[in-house]
Amino acid sequence: MIRLIATALILLTPAAFADEPVELTFIANEGVIIRHGELAVAIDTPAWNSYDGTYAIPSPAMRQAMTHGGYPVGNLYALLFTHVHGDHFDAEGAVAIVRTNPGEPAIMAADQVVDVFRDAGGDESDAIPLGLVSDGCVMGSENECQEYATYEYFFLGIDLEARPRIDVDARPLFHREGIEHWTYRVVIGGVSILHLGDTQPQQADFSTWDGVQFDVILYPYWFQQMAQGQAFLAAHPESRTIAFHIPANASALQVQQALGENEYLHTEGETLILRESGE
Ligand SMILES: [Zn+2]
Repeated sequence: MIRLIATALILLTPAAFADEPVELTFIANEGVIIRHGELAVAIDTPAWNSYDGTYAIPSPAMRQAMTHGGYPVGNLYALLFTHVHGDHFDAEGAVAIVRTNPGEPAIMAADQVVDVFRDAGGDESDAIPLGLVSDGCVMGSENECQEYATYEYFFLGIDLEARPRIDVDARPLFHREGIEHWTYRVVIGGVSILHLGDTQPQQADFSTWDGVQFDVILYPYWFQQMAQGQAFLAAHPESRTIAFHIPANASALQVQQALGENEYLHTEGETLILRESGE
């Protein structure tokens, strides 16, 4: 029901930004900004921990842009984090952005992330914790109840005036034992983007995303090294698939050996057009 209402609102939104392109700017590791006109969403940025230089973290200039809303970041309406690890989430940076970015962003993340955000001085009312909201059952082939979980859908598109046309759907996929890990599908400017965080394809139950269409799939490069990861990407031939989480000082040759001709993001500030203006 919520989905129907939100979809209707999205369709009714005045076409103020219809001519603006949808752009993605790469920050570091798995950090991206997705932007449509005045609206932007950040995923897995800022991060603070390079793990001894293995992974890149945002430059001071990029942090400044995130905090104050300058190009290429803009007005952030949400900061989404897949999980609490320091190469994906910086609590102090997030607190500064929530306080200062002109979009007055909300944080959307697992309890583990929200706890650290609060410990760093963040206001809990700025956080949207994610959780499984209900369990149900379907009748299996033996006519017995098989448990399944349903997921809450969160929309930032409900308030037409303040938060037009950003639609966020969060669902969990396995990363590591003991780590709450959420993957996100963001729809902005009519483009549907899946961010897979640090999903481990060998243990993840991808059926959680069955039936959902993606224009763009952002995946950690190790998907290309595991049959289950390759299978998930191959099951979405309609999607533009882009690798990231590539070690900071990987050479072009190493990247090519790992990814072949597949598209990837590795350089801060790299910007992709996901949809041309007026399309
Ligand atoms: Zn990671």
